[in-house]
Amino acid sequence: MKIYIVADMEGIGGIVRPEQVLKGNPEYDEARRLLIREVDAVVEGALAGGATHVVVKDAHADGFNFPPEELHPAAEYIMGTPHPGRFPDLDETVNGVFLVGYHAMAGTPAAVRDHTYSSRDWQAFYLNDRQMGEVGIDASIAGYYGVPVLLVTGDDKVCAEARGLLGEVVTARVKTGIARHCARLLPPARVRDLVREKARAAMELIGQVPPLRHSVPVSVKIRYTGTEIADGIRACWKDGAGDAAGEAETAKVKAAGVDGVEILRLDGQTVLYEGNNLLDVLHQAL
Ligand SMILES: [Zn+2]
Repeated sequence: MKIYIVADMEGIGGIVRPEQVLKGNPEYDEARRLLIREVDAVVEGALAGGATHVVVKDAHADGFNFPPEELHPAAEYIMGTPHPGRFPDLDETVNGVFLVGYHAMAGTPAAVRDHTYSSRDWQAFYLNDRQMGEVGIDASIAGYYGVPVLLVTGDDKVCAEARGLLGEVVTARVKTGIARHCARLLPPARVRDLVREKARAAMELIGQVPPLRHSVPVSVKIRYTGTEIADGIRACWKDGAGDAAGEAETAKVKAAGVDGVEILRLDGQTVLYEGNNLLDVLHQAL
C-alpha cells in the first residue's frame, strides 16, 4: 500500500500568523518543527493502517521546510524546488493521497490564511466552472492518475471544503478559524494524536472512494487580483472578439498557447485556459 502525503504549512496545528510561514522569522523556526512533527504523526497513522511505502512531498513555498534530522525513518521525503510537475513521483501506483496542513480557498471567511496559490495575485480559481481552492486543484491532479484523496487536515473551513468537494474523505480539524489570522488552537500533542488516528482511519477508504475526475475539455478560469497580473500573461493580450481582424488575433492567441492549451483573456482580471488534458491546462495556468 503506497501513500503519497502532500504537506502544506498554513493548516498545521498551532500555525495562525503570517510570520510563522515565512522563512527568516524566529516564529518560522518553531513552526517548521510543528510541521514536521504533525507530518510524522500522519506517517505513523498511515503505517498503522497498513501503508508499506510512504512518500511525503514538502509543498510549502520553496519545498524545503522539514528539518532533515526530524524526518520519520520509515518514509521518504521529496524536498526542494524546482521540479517537473507539481507532485514528483505521484502516479498510478499510489493507492491514496493525504493532504496535510491545508487551508481554505481564497475568500473563505474565518479561515486561517485562506488563499488559492497566491494571496497577492489570485482572487478566485474555477475548474470547469466550479470554484476550488488548493484541495480541489491537488485532488484533481491526483484524480488524473486515478488516485483518490483520503485525508485532509487543517482548520474547520478547509475540512468542510474538502467534504463538500470530495464527499467521503476523512478530515482532521486541528484548529477552528476565527479570522484570517486568529484561531482557536488545539495543543500540538492533541493535534498529533488526532491526525495519527485520522490517518489510520483514512487507510480504510482505500478502494472504497473514487478519484476526483473532470470531463474534457478542461477549462480553468482564474480571476486575478489586478489587471496588471493578467497583463503579464503575454499569450492573452488580445481577446480577438469581434471583426475579421479580431478573428486573426484569436488565431494568434490560440497559437501562443502550448500543448494545445488555449489562453483567452475574458476581462481585465480574468483569464481562461482550455484544453483536452488536465495537466497541460494546469501547467499553463499555475
Ligand atoms: Zn503554503
